[in-house]
Amino acid sequence: MKVATAVIDTKALRHNFAVVRRHAPNAKVLAVLKANGYGHNQVEVAKALGQADAFAVARLNEALALRAAGIRQPLVMLEGCFNASDLPVMASEGVQAVFHTQAQLEMLRSVVMPGPISAWIKVDSGMHRIGLAPAEVPAYLDALLATGKVAPPVGLISHFACADEKGHPLNQQQIDQFLPLASHWQGPVSMAASAAILSLPQAHFDWVRPGLMLYGASPMAGESAAHYQLKPAMRLVSSLISVKRHKAGEPVGYGATWRAPQDTVIGVVAMGYGDGYPRHAKSGTPLFVGGRKVPLVGRVSMDMVTVDLGPNAKDQVGDEVELWGSEVPVEEVAECAGTISYELLCNIAQRVRYEFV
Ligand SMILES: *Cc1c(COP(=O)(O)O)cnc(C)c1O
Repeated sequence: MKVATAVIDTKALRHNFAVVRRHAPNAKVLAVLKANGYGHNQVEVAKALGQADAFAVARLNEALALRAAGIRQPLVMLEGCFNASDLPVMASEGVQAVFHTQAQLEMLRSVVMPGPISAWIKVDSGMHRIGLAPAEVPAYLDALLATGKVAPPVGLISHFACADEKGHPLNQQQIDQFLPLASHWQGPVSMAASAAILSLPQAHFDWVRPGLMLYGASPMAGESAAHYQLKPAMRLVSSLISVKRHKAGEPVGYGATWRAPQDTVIGVVAMGYGDGYPRHAKSGTPLFVGGRKVPLVGRVSMDMVTVDLGPNAKDQVGDEVELWGSEVPVEEVAECAGTISYELLCNIAQRVRYEFV
């Protein structure tokens, strides 16, 4: 039987990539692979998405692992360097740096480079996480170029705080902050991640940066992936390892938090928080088995979850169970666990097996 397996559908990845292209036909695509391709295996995703113009990661070790696997496209580190010693490595490996602090500029000044590095400047258009204030950008650009260690043209990049909420006033405010710089910028300009690709076409500019939508989950609050023709690229599956009759009123699992309202059949699935399934998924979270959805009952354990198969269940040990995928959207599980699909996808644990189809 199949135990705790993430089945990755490379065709779905390519399909979702085509959805990106359809929404942003005039932009280049920086496909975001950070956190191991949102838990899908960054190398396999990069191979499946060979048409991407470049790939983005967050950490140097992610970039180096892509290079070690033979991935040749330009890479971008979205928060740039963390230490001065990162910069020569990035330059020689063709990894572009986002610059967003004075400290990073000092790092570049301090280090001997093997050649120039391709650079982006991050501007804070209103999210107030990282980035320079718009007014600081011109002097920063001059200082960056004055090091002689940067290959022009330098890109300009920003990020939305609320693009997943259509009509949120901050979206237009951020565009208004960004535009005066962006409209006169010499180099490439980028602002849109998945949600803005789908909902803010005026923010597409030269490069779009899809992450979540490539993996087939919806980046828009309250709207399904199917609504945008996105197909889940991951099916998280496992098997029933126990099927037993259960008496009304008897509890199930740690803490005896759930009791059966009627005589029923309880199934146990080989999947737990040790695999990355969220421990806070509440009773009622759907799982797909035997052609129907059944509710999770009781607490999620490290290696197992329990489901109420119903009094007339015909399910058997060894039957396949989908925890999320094409039948149970990962967004729905996330909602039931008080989190977001991003977190569930990138929390897939080491011991989970991968299959690529
Ligand atoms: C993660 C990230 C993205 C991708 O975001 P999605 O919502 O997954 O599309 C784009 N840009 C930056 C700067 C990011 O950190």
